[in-house]
Amino acid sequence: MIKEIFRENGLEITDHQEEQLQRYYELLIEWNRKINLTAITEYKEVIYKHFLDSAFIVKSELFQTKEISTVLDLGTGAGFPGIVLAVLCPRYRFTLVDSLMKRIDFLRIVKEELELDHITLHHGRAEDLGRQKEFRNQFDYVVSRAVAELPVLLEYCIPFVGKEGYFISYKGKRYQEEINNSNMALQILSADIKKIEKYELMDEERFLIFVENLSLTEEKYPRRAGKIKKNPLY
Ligand code: SAH
Repeated sequence: MIKEIFRENGLEITDHQEEQLQRYYELLIEWNRKINLTAITEYKEVIYKHFLDSAFIVKSELFQTKEISTVLDLGTGAGFPGIVLAVLCPRYRFTLVDSLMKRIDFLRIVKEELELDHITLHHGRAEDLGRQKEFRNQFDYVVSRAVAELPVLLEYCIPFVGKEGYFISYKGKRYQEEINNSNMALQILSADIKKIEKYELMDEERFLIFVENLSLTEEKYPRRAGKIKKNPLY
């Protein structure tokens, strides 16, 4: 079933990958009874709105610039897009970050059950991790879905991106308004919107915003937690 849905949308997956995604679905539903992971639980809806939505990026040329890339998923929650991408790209290295410990605990179980040895899990906030040496400018790609408005998200994410790497933001149809509010943030963080890719999902328009990191971010960014949201770089 998952394989067919993916194929209809131009994505070929192996039997093993289908089994991994099926097991992920079961774990998601099982643990969602105990901790808040997702509002969407109906099978087909999860496959489309969480799995496929996370997956479309692998079709993009800009996501395939190297054979082995490093990817950080900021605010991964129950693992979107990070876990799905890790299943689809077994050669890439993934780091999944979230500020809620319970979600990281859930992801530890997923990592073990799906045997995803190429992912690392981190409990923490973007504002703190982005200042640490082992994270700053270390990733070819930073991805993030449903975490914050673009101007805030840029300050969270760009410091993690290596030079000439990309931050890729998953957005809905209000993306243009968010971009209009991001000019200042892009300038200050020296980043540039390189490409916007559109795809459709259950009659909904979705957009991937590819933001290129042009040079290393000034040391004072990201600012402290609270400051970023209260006073975004407009
Ligand atoms: N990306 C997932 C989850 C979205 S909910 C999805 O698309 O389904 C937003 C998640 O971001 C939450 O799990 C929250 O704990 C996390 N989050 C919010 N602000 C954060 C920050 N500053 N640093 C790290 N994680 C953050």
